[in-house]
Order: sequence, then structure tokens, then C-alpha cells
Amino acid sequence: MKSTGIVRNIDRLGRVVLPMELRKLLDLKVQDPVEIFTHGSDVVIRKYRPSCVFCNRDGDIVEFKGLNVCSHCIAELSAPEEYFSENEIL
Ligand SMILES: [Zn+2]
Repeated sequence: MKSTGIVRNIDRLGRVVLPMELRKLLDLKVQDPVEIFTHGSDVVIRKYRPSCVFCNRDGDIVEFKGLNVCSHCIAELSAPEEYFSENEIL
């Protein structure tokens, strides 16, 4: 993790303003969704990238019946016989 040297106070509603230079650097725009993680005692904010409900990949995602699924898993679901041996199908 790289320090930015920026220190900000949390306001009484729990908000923190992300500095403009950081938003520009990370291409964060108004109304962009961000995801909040914890890592030990750290709070990590990341630009939201939808990920596959099956394999957790975050690229090439399609929404299907309200769930995010990647193209790899869609292919696997469409032709399971190509991915499983006969014993696994039984
Ligand atoms: Zn997947």
C-alpha cells in the first residue's frame, strides 16, 4: 500500500472527502460506485467492479436474473459436458 500523505477528518455523519487529485488519478467521477473493504484495521475504498457470483472474476460480466456472471461461467453453464467428465455428470 502506498501512502498519499493526505490526512482528512471524518465528519459527524461519517463522511470523508476523497481529494480531487486522487479522484482524477483513479478516474473516479461523481456518482461512480465505490466498494469499501476492510483489511485488518485498514479501510480500503476501490472503484466498484462487478464480479462473477461463481468465480469472482471482475471482467467481461453480464447480468443474468439479477446476478453478475462472467463469460467463462456462461460458457461452462451452456455446455457443461465439455467441462465435466462423464463420472462427474452422473
Ligand atoms: Zn465466472
